[in-house]
Parts: sequence; structure tokens; C-alpha cells
Amino acid sequence: MTLKPQASQRVLKGQRLIQQGDVLQQTHGTVGSVVVVKSNQGKFLGQLVYAPQQKGIGWIFSTDESDRWSQSFVQRAVERAFDKRRRLVQDATTTAYRLVNGEGDQLAGVTVDYYAGFLQLNWYSEGMYRYRDWVVDSLQQALPTVRGMYETLRFGEAKIQHIMGELAPQPLHIMENGVEYAIYLGEEWMTGIFLDQRQVRSFIADHAHHQSVLNLFSYTGAFSVAATKGGANRTVSVDVAKRSLAKTQENFQLNGIESPTMAHEIRVQDVFDYIKMANRKGWQFDWVVCDPPSFARTKKVVFSARKDYVALAQALAPLVAANGSLMLSTNHSGYFLQDFMQEMRQALAQTGSQWQLVQQFGLSEDFPTTQDANSQYLKVLVFRKLAE
Ligand code: SAH
Repeated sequence: MTLKPQASQRVLKGQRLIQQGDVLQQTHGTVGSVVVVKSNQGKFLGQLVYAPQQKGIGWIFSTDESDRWSQSFVQRAVERAFDKRRRLVQDATTTAYRLVNGEGDQLAGVTVDYYAGFLQLNWYSEGMYRYRDWVVDSLQQALPTVRGMYETLRFGEAKIQHIMGELAPQPLHIMENGVEYAIYLGEEWMTGIFLDQRQVRSFIADHAHHQSVLNLFSYTGAFSVAATKGGANRTVSVDVAKRSLAKTQENFQLNGIESPTMAHEIRVQDVFDYIKMANRKGWQFDWVVCDPPSFARTKKVVFSARKDYVALAQALAPLVAANGSLMLSTNHSGYFLQDFMQEMRQALAQTGSQWQLVQQFGLSEDFPTTQDANSQYLKVLVFRKLAE
């Protein structure tokens, strides 16, 4: 595969994702085949597994001509990935984390999450799925104590299946920084927790003492539970999905907190309705946590992070008490940090209050990325409201 001049430059600067539009000429292109990538001047740039998916046609797994895509390459990549997580593996207060993060661990198209003795593999491309047995074998060798494995196929015909060992208890209890959460493996794509927000949950817990917290798009209430363990005296969790009520309640109870109560409210409601009502009533919170999906469609509203986040942030501004904090998060891989940051700053500057960006998070240590902006999908900003 020969790349166009600009794409060649990007690869030389560290980018690893190749898109169809980057290609000048291609002589090889069967799914799962290993392709040598050259610059427009014929210089060796790297090797990739041809694996078209949403984001592109493949990620360069090595820029070394002598590397060979093989079972032992996969094995070594898995071993390096495990080494990188040593701190987390040894942390007795955390039993769930990501063990393999796709392209960031030279295994683009597959992620592996560890949940208290069980593994969940997620496959994003058919090209990588061709090498499933190599990956599964390598995981078993690197983690002989694994109790069971599940996999989800997120390409073609979506599928979730148990593939090895014991079935996981339902729910499976995991711990994160000493807080417990209920996980369900083998049921849905979403297991009950988004592991990439661990450091954000921990930050909020550390800053929630005696605070009131509004958690929007709350799913299983993980931010609310972490905040309460950190001393929050009031939480309101809002999610439109009916199942979120029971799952949030379950997470509170697992940590010995009675909910729903006046102090810890759980609302099955459209966030946009809640925001209108809260603004009408003049309600305010010390913390407003907003972690929406990239796209969502309810009966009433279509939300696209890229288009609608500015209006959302502005509607939330009045709900934040003076000296309170507003956490804005997006996991939309096409909404790059620079744009998100600039647009959120501008949005808040127009609210008539003064705001300061006090904290920023990307992906944590168990979610290594390449230099591609697409790879660094999580952006979390925390603004403090200085004065009304
Ligand atoms: N913040 C959560 C993850 C959010 S997942 C966490 O940290 O775990 C996205 C959630 O948004 C889903 O649970 C979905 O039901 C909810 N959602 C999507 N559109 C919504 C809307 N308009 N109002 C309320 N909830 C919505």
C-alpha cells in the first residue's frame, strides 16, 4: 500500500490510523491480510492488518520492518500490555480495569477488560477477529488464573457470548478504589460500568464531601455512588432508561447506602426535561456531572454531542451553585479535545457567570493510545463557577 504525501507525513509524525482516502495505490486488500505501508516515495513506513472498520481501514501495528505479525507477536503484545497494568493488578482496592486497549497496545480492533477474575473481549473488526485464537491463547497464557471469558462482536452481526471457563455470577461484584459496583457479563454491550472514567469517579469522590451532586445521563449511577462514598450528602441521578433505576439502586445498596431516598434520588426521566424543570424552579447543585452518549434519540429529543453540546452546557450553567463545579465529558472520537475545549469555554463565557477550567482528564494508564486524535477519544473538563 502506498500512501499519499500528506498521509505519509502524518505516519512519520506518529499517527497510526490509515483511512481509505490516505491511499494512493493498493495492491493487496483482503480482510485480515498483513499489508506493508510505503510512502509516496517508496520508503517503508510500517505494517498493518487490513481491517476496515468505522474509523478507517487499518492501524499500523509496527514501524519495524523485521517484526512479523504472528502468534508470538500477539503473545508479546499481550505480555507488554499486562506489564503496563502492573500497578492496577497489584492494587487490592481495584478489581476491574482494561488489560488490552486495541491500537494503544498494538492490537487494533480488540479490547480486553478484566472484571474480578473474568475477561470480556470486544471485537471491532472482522480483520482482527481472524486472529481470535491467537489472542485468546495469549490471554490464557498470560493469565492462567482467569475464571472465564466472554466476547462481544461489534461488527457485522452483533453477538455476545461466553467462550471459556466458568459463567460469571450475575451480578459480578467488582471494586474500584474501594467502591463496589454490580457488573453483568454476557447480557449487553454495556456491562454496568465504564472503566475509562475511573480517575474521574475518583476525582469527584475526593471533592464531594458535604456536596450536592446532579448526575445526568447517569446509567447505573456510578458517579453518584462514588460521590456518596466520598461524602456527598445529596445526589440526583437522571437517566431516561427504565433499567437505570434498579441498577443504580443496586449499586447504592452494594455500598451500604439506602436509595432511593430524599438524599439520594433516582429519576427515570429525559435529561432535557429535567434541566428545563430544574431551571424553572431555580435548583442548584455543588456538582453537575454530565456524561452523555455521543448520539442519543429519545421519543422527544435527538442529541448529537458534536452539534448540541454547546446548548447543553449553557442550559446546565444556571444549575451550578456559586463556587460549584461543572463536569463535561464526551467520548465522541470525532470531537477532538481542542474543539471541545474551545467550544465549552466559549459556551460558558456567554452565560453571564465567570468560569475557570480547573481540571482536565483524558484516558487513564490502562487505556494507552496512539498519537491519533481518534484514539484519544475521552475528553473530560471540570469548570468551576467563580461568580454569578
Ligand atoms: N454517565 C454514565 C454513562 C452514560 S451512558 C456512567 O458514568 O456510567 C449513556 C446513558 O445516557 C444511557 O444510560 C442512556 O439511557 C442515557 N440517555 C441517553 N439519552 C438520554 C436522555 N435524553 N435523557 C436521559 N438519559 C439519556
